[in-house]
Amino acid sequence: MTIHFPFQNTYTALPASFFARVAPTPVAAPRLIKLNRPLALQLGLDPDRLDSLEGAEILAGKRVPDGADPIAMAYAGHQFGHFVPQLGDGRAILLGEVIDAEGVRRDIQLKGSGPTPFSRRGDGRAALGPVLREYIVSEAMFALSIPTTRSLAAVITGENVMRETPLPGAVLTRVAASHIRVGTFQYFAARSDTEGVRRLADHVIARHYPHAADTDRPYRALLEAVIARQADLVARWLLVGFIHGVMNTDNSSVAGETIDYGPCAFMDHYDPAKVFSSIDQQGRYAYANQPRIALWNLTRLAECLLPLLSDDKDKAVEEAQTILGEFAERFTSAYQAGLRQKIGLFTVRDGDEALVQDLLDAMAKNQADFTLTFRRLSDAALDPDGDTEVRALFAEPVACDEWAARWRERISGEMQSPAERQAAMRSVNPAFIPRNHRVEAVIEAAVNRDDFAPFEELLAVLAKPYQDQPEFAGYADPPEPHQCVLQTFCGT
Ligand code: AMP
Ligand code: MG
Repeated sequence: MTIHFPFQNTYTALPASFFARVAPTPVAAPRLIKLNRPLALQLGLDPDRLDSLEGAEILAGKRVPDGADPIAMAYAGHQFGHFVPQLGDGRAILLGEVIDAEGVRRDIQLKGSGPTPFSRRGDGRAALGPVLREYIVSEAMFALSIPTTRSLAAVITGENVMRETPLPGAVLTRVAASHIRVGTFQYFAARSDTEGVRRLADHVIARHYPHAADTDRPYRALLEAVIARQADLVARWLLVGFIHGVMNTDNSSVAGETIDYGPCAFMDHYDPAKVFSSIDQQGRYAYANQPRIALWNLTRLAECLLPLLSDDKDKAVEEAQTILGEFAERFTSAYQAGLRQKIGLFTVRDGDEALVQDLLDAMAKNQADFTLTFRRLSDAALDPDGDTEVRALFAEPVACDEWAARWRERISGEMQSPAERQAAMRSVNPAFIPRNHRVEAVIEAAVNRDDFAPFEELLAVLAKPYQDQPEFAGYADPPEPHQCVLQTFCGT
């Protein structure tokens, strides 16, 4: 009995210039190391069937399931500001689309499944470390309620990949609302293929923004909708201390999901200029730059859509500028609303923005841990004795005292009970994030010792980020100085 995937593919019905048909390259000895059972069920797949040799072979690309129509998608992109007219899926193959339990169409893609016509000089493969990293961080983002691609499975291929040293090869099965990027639009725009841009825009509207089709100006509505989702997404990133690390236009999803987890990281102590990625030497993608970069990427999208906005070029530009002008307001209101929730405010008053900014400034000056400060503040909302725990996170604990007094004064004017405030704050301030030193330790155990128990444990903790889980309290701790991860790598 073969494993059934209920594929209903639409991307392959687009013109041939949108993709290259290519099958995954078979690998030696696939071994399933992780299957996301709840996600499998949500996708209409049978987890028991997938958890088998045949399942491992499918998820490693050794066997193509019935109904799959495997392709590598074409796209372009600005990488660190430099335009590359052809990138494309160089090491990923889209098996097909399924409709999930909520009626949402989802791509099922193998990442690391062998070369494609877009591989350039790459080997089309992925190493185990980055696969585990993407699995952990994407599923953590999902548990934090942040829009993201997800991870259905990870398999070891039984082959080595050559990086600086030989490393175990792996394939990640990624699930996404779609894999269409800002760079996908750029691919056609760069070729002056306006008909291609239009076909893609129509596909994106039908798939992600059906309401746009019902407006007088569907393409304008499309651009507005993508801008709104990106603004919300980046605000959510900042509110949990997430740094994507490679916000190139080819890593920017038009569906508004976090995509392409490479050298991404969560910050420990709060530092707006924080950069982890070894390749981001100018800090282009630093934590606090992310909103500006998202707008830069959206401006590239708007440029692609100009011919669809108006036949009159000047009019199209003027309109695009007006729409792009909505980003700042969207982002700021989402970010400020999120910050107000993080410090437990139920109402909006003059001075709130300054109050929260003063806390952030004090945290930056005192290397206070971003996640723990807000988590402990949540408990201090119930019991002022909790202030001791908050203070302890600041290099100069007194920096916290004056602020805490102002905060108590501000919240005392609201009618909510301390218990209500604590509960509300705990629901937005996670205890557990994928801390770099924990992720690195998991990868080290898996790669060097074939030990996946730490991986499983970390995943279990991160699946419930807002619960205390006293037995795993250590996972909430920031790194000791010797455990600090200073740099992260793409690992491609
Ligand atoms: P990324 O930095 O992962 O977003 O990838 C940027 C581009 O490089 C995309 O076109 C990828 O498909 C391609 N790429 C990354 N790693 C490899 C690899 N090992 N083999 C082939 N192409 C790759
Ligand atoms: Mg990418």
